[in-house]
Amino acid sequence: MKDQRAKEFARCAVALALALRETSGIGDTLEADVARGGNPFAPPPVARAEDPFAPSLAGSEGIFDQALTNGLAAIVAHEWPGEEKDKKGRVLYARQLLCVIEKHVTPGADGDLVIPDPRGDRPPPQSPADSNFHWRQLPALDTRIDARVLVDGLDVSQSARHARGTGGLERQHIDALLALDDHKSLRTMSEQHADRAWENAREEDRHSATRAAAFLELIGDDEAARRAEGVDNPNEYHPKHNPNGHDLDTCPICGYRTFCVQGLDIRGRVGFGQCLICTYIRSPDTADDEGYGEHLAWLDGKD
Ligand SMILES: [Zn+2]
Repeated sequence: MKDQRAKEFARCAVALALALRETSGIGDTLEADVARGGNPFAPPPVARAEDPFAPSLAGSEGIFDQALTNGLAAIVAHEWPGEEKDKKGRVLYARQLLCVIEKHVTPGADGDLVIPDPRGDRPPPQSPADSNFHWRQLPALDTRIDARVLVDGLDVSQSARHARGTGGLERQHIDALLALDDHKSLRTMSEQHADRAWENAREEDRHSATRAAAFLELIGDDEAARRAEGVDNPNEYHPKHNPNGHDLDTCPICGYRTFCVQGLDIRGRVGFGQCLICTYIRSPDTADDEGYGEHLAWLDGKD
């Protein structure tokens, strides 16, 4: 059961991510969206005409603060129950919540606060001899909190809210906010159609792999093995009834031969589709990317 705070975090974070994405090609700030009139948080036109910046940004800046406070409160409540509130039982402000996390977590080399995956490092699956796949490390479910960028986001949003400048959230602020969604207490963005919010195939793939790893953790190794035993291939090749079908392939995330291939990349090397056990999705774009990588490796090997 997801906490109400997690839902609030996801609702706000997705709205921001979508607003930011719509500005692509125009600029990195949300003002660009205001200028275009496409800002979902835009105020009535009168206010915009009077002051093109501060009041019109107030909505989205407020949403950033709200998303961050809810996300951090859910994380702190999960990791150190009770510390998300003050003595009177009120939820702390985002800055105070970051201080609580800083108190418990040592920053990594890059300055990020890292809450490690409770299951620790997991080895990549064993590579069967008959697979074309490049094995990869299972994505860690570590949560990376870039406190510096998040505090900066709060600073710019507060100056915008108090009309002290043009302010404006940038992509880095939203990215740091979205990164919180990897924490066990959140992971709600997919329920909020977050797939539309991911910028490119690689980011989408990373997210799909993280979701799949989280799903595997949820059902557990025994249940995954049991399900893998009885899997049927809904896209089984048949010369007459399903000439475009494919054999199941090995899933790069869970390691079972349960990846249902819907088609191949343009070089015919890597299949796209979905794993029937861990739900990992490899999109056609990702398959093209990986197929190209394999093609280059193959050319290298020929020399
Ligand atoms: Zn899988």
